[in-house]
Amino acid sequence: MSEEKSLNFIEQIVEDDIANGVNGGRVLTRFPPEPNGYLHIGHAKSIVLNFGLAQKYNGKTNLRFDDTNPVTEDTEYVESIKNDIRWLGFEWANELYASDYFEELYQFAVKLIEKGLAYVEDATAEEIAAAKGTPTTPGTPTPARSRSVEENLDLFARMRKGEFKDGEKTLRAKGDLASPNMHMRDPLMYRIKHAHHHRTGDAWCIYPMYDFAHGQSDSIEKITHSICTLEFIPHRPLYDWFIKELEIFPSHQYEFARLNINYTVMSKRKLKLLVEEGFVSGWDDPRMPTISGLRRRGYTPASIRELCERVGVQKRDHMIELSLLEFCIREELNKTANRVMAVLDPVKLVITNYPEGQVEELTADNNPEDENAGSRTLHFSKTLYIEREDFMENPTKKYFRLGPGLMVRLKNAYIIKGESVEKDENGNITTIYATYLPESKSGGDSSGINVKGTIHWVSAAHAAKAEIRLYDRLFTSENPNGEEADFRTFINPNSLQVINEAYVEPSLSVAKPGDRFQFLRKGYFAVDQDSTSEKLIFNRTVTLKDTWAKEVRKEA
Ligand code: ATP
Ligand code: MG
Repeated sequence: MSEEKSLNFIEQIVEDDIANGVNGGRVLTRFPPEPNGYLHIGHAKSIVLNFGLAQKYNGKTNLRFDDTNPVTEDTEYVESIKNDIRWLGFEWANELYASDYFEELYQFAVKLIEKGLAYVEDATAEEIAAAKGTPTTPGTPTPARSRSVEENLDLFARMRKGEFKDGEKTLRAKGDLASPNMHMRDPLMYRIKHAHHHRTGDAWCIYPMYDFAHGQSDSIEKITHSICTLEFIPHRPLYDWFIKELEIFPSHQYEFARLNINYTVMSKRKLKLLVEEGFVSGWDDPRMPTISGLRRRGYTPASIRELCERVGVQKRDHMIELSLLEFCIREELNKTANRVMAVLDPVKLVITNYPEGQVEELTADNNPEDENAGSRTLHFSKTLYIEREDFMENPTKKYFRLGPGLMVRLKNAYIIKGESVEKDENGNITTIYATYLPESKSGGDSSGINVKGTIHWVSAAHAAKAEIRLYDRLFTSENPNGEEADFRTFINPNSLQVINEAYVEPSLSVAKPGDRFQFLRKGYFAVDQDSTSEKLIFNRTVTLKDTWAKEVRKEA
């Protein structure tokens, strides 16, 4: 990170703490995912912030699985989360689980009961809610609130032993029923859930609530800066209250604005529905805003970190444009991706005056932006494929590509002139005939002819067949969460287009899953994980330009 860059407000807090000798200048952050789904790009924001702070201030970051809800969690998610964090380029100091603290948390609860600050409740969820009052009227105590310490200790121990059914009893903190902050009005600390936990098995049938697990886990680990998103601001007084009353290490909570990106949803619950209901092929579908989806789409860790840096750390919620994410990957791939030719909508082109059976080896630079990228060999022959849209039978005035009598340059090869076409019974062009200018060869052109257009091509006899998947936004609404209707009604029906028969340069037949290329004039593409040398599959990561910006300009 450059020195001149101004500090974000959390860095400012950390620097002040270090300057004031708080915690002896020690910095320990944590990233606390709930293992109930795959990580999405919003989590990346939190990862970059937490791990980035530790890196910058000589600190460490714990990975803590917030696994206090037995029913929604799974080891599959634990593994994917670890994999995604590492892929983003970060390594945690300790791999920890809130469930490892269940015994300690239980003892903390006992301590609060002994201090007269917690009680076992008999009332149902509805009764509790009704007695809580409203933000402007105080709540009323339930009969259980006046239980003796002894009775509470006994009932809580019996809750743990499994003597009660789900929902029959809860443990509540004795807060302030008149507090303007509803979270302080005797919040729940424990609920009964006779459910199998992915790590503790059947050892427990009572589970701590988020508010009674998170801050205490921070404290047990001696986290110095516990960073979360803005919706936890009203929880902060409770976070501080538990720590104060338990007299344990004083971790502190700080809140920043979550990352929101338009034309997508960013909640594991909703992403899970998309997977379960078959709207996408899985958590790693390249249209998903998950880390695994972005990876499969061809995004790099650096481009995702770059987005997070550009967005910065804010105190107010806002929406980031999807085009900013696309900008980040485009910038990077422009510098790093080798250029190749691929014809997505092929039509045959025969060069009538080119010798039958002749094959020329042409040299092409891999990347004009990178002089160390080297070059490769292209095979040129009599029969090629070009894009159907690069030929017009009745060209309009400003059409600078191929047509009858029109000249165009074949990239890295020759100038050709359109002559005639052959069509099938439906009137579709099946073959284009053209002639070439032998003296116009790229690199040694003595034809003296200037053409305006250059098009890409592949040699029919040499090209490799490929499947190409083109993606678009997953939703038609800019904010599918903000609409009145269910977010699923805004799914873009045209978010995936599969091209079964495209032709690519033969050099691509040895490309490995994850390799990235610029297909000249067509965008950046990555080799899909299911691609093999027998069946090549490419995913379009992003177009060369922001095609939607063009749409908007057209409309304006
Ligand atoms: P979701 O609603 O998607 O399930 P969550 O907040 O419940 O998100 P957790 O697994 O609990 O997911 O989150 C782990 C960490 O990631 C938390 O500290 C949370 O604040 C942070 N986080 C989650 N979503 C975002 C986001 N969109 N922007 C920034 N941070 C986020
Ligand atoms: Mg959560």
